[in-house]
Amino acid sequence: MKILLATNNPGKVREYRDLLSRKVSGRSAPAAPLNTSITLFTPADLGIDISVEETGTTFAENATIKARAFASASGSFALADDSGLEIDALGGEPGVRSSRYAGPTDADRIRAVLAKLGDLPLEKRTARFRCVVALAGPTGQLWTSEGTCEGLIAFSPRGRGGFGYDPIFYLPSLGRTMAQIPRYLKNTISHRAHALQGLRPIIASLATTTPDP
Ligand code: IMP
Repeated sequence: MKILLATNNPGKVREYRDLLSRKVSGRSAPAAPLNTSITLFTPADLGIDISVEETGTTFAENATIKARAFASASGSFALADDSGLEIDALGGEPGVRSSRYAGPTDADRIRAVLAKLGDLPLEKRTARFRCVVALAGPTGQLWTSEGTCEGLIAFSPRGRGGFGYDPIFYLPSLGRTMAQIPRYLKNTISHRAHALQGLRPIIASLATTTPDP
């Protein structure tokens, strides 16, 4: 079964390759491994160059828009992820605008978030990553699933792993930011891992019944 990852974000691609593979960095995958007959492609692999406007007001709407657009452009199953950071003290910002918030680079966005929070004490810096994954099929099928990961916004960036807001997303139970933990660990606790969990039975069943186009 061929699945197109409906994203050009290299951080997301890396994580989905791990999450949908049998092994994660040499360790057993956290969840039941998926059938190895799944082959993942990126838009670049298939020469698909479409730009999809994220006009939705929720993660679910945007994930659905992206999955449907890439499924119809490719004629195969497409898996899209819309995700972001919700900070309680900022009324849920940056939320669905996480990738377009306060400047063109991750460093700009991190700086803006830290400036807005100022010296607010750690216990009031509650936040979560939220992710909705949508799987769209070539004949209109659609499945979605949501996952979250709770944490606190640190006072300064730490760590070099992950992507996006990971260097300021502090996990109190681990005493480290999301950018300081190994990838296999992020892939057991992340919003993305939890969201994908809900689609695993569907993907596994499609993989045994869907011939490659
Ligand atoms: P999207 O491509 O519109 O879904 O944008 C997602 C944005 O949310 C990313 O560009 C990051 O800024 C942020 N984001 C989503 N997931 C993560 C994550 O796992 N770590 C850090 N930042 C994330």
